[in-house]
Amino acid sequence: MSILVYIEQRGGAVRSVSRETLGEATRLAAVLGGPVVGVCCAAADPGLAALGEAGAEQVLLAAHPAFAQYDSAGHAAAVTAAAKQVGAKVVLFSASSIGKDLAPRVAARLSVGLATDCTALAVESGRLVATRPVFAGKAFQKVAFPASPAVASLRPKVFAPVSAAGAVAAVSALPFEWDASAPRAVVTGLAGASGGKADLTESEIVVSGGRGLKGPEHFHLVEALADALGATVGASRAVVDAGWRPHGEQVGQTGKVVSPKLYVAVGISGAIQHLAGMSSSRCIVAINKDPEAPIFKVADYGLVGDLFEVLPALTAEVRKLHG
Ligand SMILES: Cc1cc2nc3c(=O)[nH]c(=O)nc-3n(C[C@H](O)[C@H](O)[C@H](O)COP(=O)(O)OP(=O)(O)OC[C@H]3O[C@@H](n4cnc5c(N)ncnc54)[C@H](O)[C@@H]3O)c2cc1C
Repeated sequence: MSILVYIEQRGGAVRSVSRETLGEATRLAAVLGGPVVGVCCAAADPGLAALGEAGAEQVLLAAHPAFAQYDSAGHAAAVTAAAKQVGAKVVLFSASSIGKDLAPRVAARLSVGLATDCTALAVESGRLVATRPVFAGKAFQKVAFPASPAVASLRPKVFAPVSAAGAVAAVSALPFEWDASAPRAVVTGLAGASGGKADLTESEIVVSGGRGLKGPEHFHLVEALADALGATVGASRAVVDAGWRPHGEQVGQTGKVVSPKLYVAVGISGAIQHLAGMSSSRCIVAINKDPEAPIFKVADYGLVGDLFEVLPALTAEVRKLHG
């Protein structure tokens, strides 16, 4: 009986969200019993032994040339085979773009339910219980798992990784059956974020701009603060719909869900659909000229003022602090 973690890799590098998922698996294993086993689908080993330091005792490598790119059916076949091979009692994914696609496929193949986008896992009376935001983050739902294994995806940036310095995971090949000759869907390319910036969902700091900026020509103010803080730029849907910013930057119910250490909302009113994408951020700073703006209800720090005056001054102060 193991706790199985899907190890996500892109371009031959393990993604940091997998270390977060392994961290939570390690904490669960201390209560439920282990071991913590990873399963990674890749064209070649992306350095899986090093995941011992992140809490994995063993990692199964499902190697296939087609896995140079993400493949829904192939990965689902491999992870399902891994869950059966290790007798998994819990199977964890990150609720990343890939995890959102893969977790339901694996749960269906295992004929069990799935708790998605969880923000907490706990063991109550010996049973795993997951907490997940519902109704666009207005409420939290606690769900138990009547069938085994319990399958859940974890919201990125919510769970802390562990550090077991020097530990090495045992890596072995996973036998699995998958007919790659007749794919139902093929990934033809990946459009990555430009400018070498961290992915929005993996950033420690996000500075988002809204309609209060009045036009795309003023977004350089948001970019300047983001640069000074080493942050990634996000946006409200209003400005994405207006064509001021690309859709990849949209935060919210129909955009990306982010949980950075620091989220700065500039000229964003705080509509429920926006809050759904950022309210689990560790520290929220809101800059808005309307003291009644709903964003202030979730903000840890609120700055009531005109962003055209506040942003340049704030950016200058941050630059001074960073030397
Ligand atoms: C099904 C559905 C899904 C949706 N999904 C999303 C989503 O994923 N993400 C999302 O963001 N929205 C989403 N929305 C839209 C959402 O309801 C809001 O319309 C949107 O978030 C508003 O964007 P905003 O805050 O930038 O604009 P506004 O609501 O227009 O707010 C602008 C704010 O800027 C402030 N402001 C103006 N001038 C200044 C100034 N000079 N200085 C400081 N502050 C100033 C104003 O006081 C105001 O609070 C969705 C809506 C629906 C119906």
